[in-house]
Amino acid sequence: MGSKHLVKTAMTNAKYIGRFAPSPTGTLHFGSLVCALASFLDARHQSGRWLLRIEDIDPPREIAGSTTTILRQLSDHGLSWDGEILYQSTRTEAYREAIAALQSADIAYNCDCPRQRLTALGGIYDGHCRQRKVIEKPAIRLQVPTESGARESEATIRFDDLIMGHYIQNLCSEIGDFIIQRRDLLFSYQLAVAVDDQFQNISHIIRGVDLIYSTPRQIYLQKCLTSLSGDKPPTLTYGHLPMAINAEGQKLSKQNHAAALEVGKESQNLWLALQWLGQQPPDQLKNEPINRILDWAIDNWSISRISKQLSIPAPDQY
Ligand code: GLU
Ligand code: ZN
Repeated sequence: MGSKHLVKTAMTNAKYIGRFAPSPTGTLHFGSLVCALASFLDARHQSGRWLLRIEDIDPPREIAGSTTTILRQLSDHGLSWDGEILYQSTRTEAYREAIAALQSADIAYNCDCPRQRLTALGGIYDGHCRQRKVIEKPAIRLQVPTESGARESEATIRFDDLIMGHYIQNLCSEIGDFIIQRRDLLFSYQLAVAVDDQFQNISHIIRGVDLIYSTPRQIYLQKCLTSLSGDKPPTLTYGHLPMAINAEGQKLSKQNHAAALEVGKESQNLWLALQWLGQQPPDQLKNEPINRILDWAIDNWSISRISKQLSIPAPDQY
């Protein structure tokens, strides 16, 4: 037998773990398809893993059946994920433990400020409850570092975004102590994402730029959580994509009736999404089967071709 014959094996890059993390508050539209596709392609181009996490921690906002539809839409577009799906609704014990650890380290505290007081503060919490030792039916806040002295404080969080470039936010002056568990006992998005990105060893996050304002909070939460558990803080790589907007300039969303992704048009959808992402797919790819399109897109993926604009109009039909 020819000993030179090489079996082509799929090599995986153990260092790259990406994810797509939709909330089941509606089905995927063009804007969510480009997020899913970009994070998938960035992972596959680097032979990384691509995980799927369903962010079902806010039951009142959920729309029945949307998880099933999202999974079908991803499969129909050939976006196959690795391993088991992680459902955040199964993770309450982990969130509770994280909060308990933050509270025993005195980084998190109970807050019972009435809504009226919070409204009057205009968004940035003033730390009123830090020392109050509130017991009854509280929300829980994470204490952000305070500004001190001449040295740049720990409150300043910076990162280099793969698409948007350098991003800087001061947690003290721009955000303030923020909610990690709500008064209605629901866990906050920030907490659940930080805990789960760490749990799943996520290395790369590609998502919409509407979330870039949350990223410093998530970086800081992960730093707090890892320092309490004695782990090394993870260094995540972020890429925030422009938002897809409609003709009125609004971000595509369920609320403003973004068109559903048309079934049977998967090849065209992928082609349009690639075009939108600046990847310049050849015309003749438009009518090819999805796997041909994805193979081309994985080989030719270049994140630097994505526009740095904050928003880009969606194609006319979407
Ligand atoms: N679940 C969030 C959403 O659907 C996205 C979370 C994330 O990518 O960090 O908007
Ligand atoms: Zn308070």
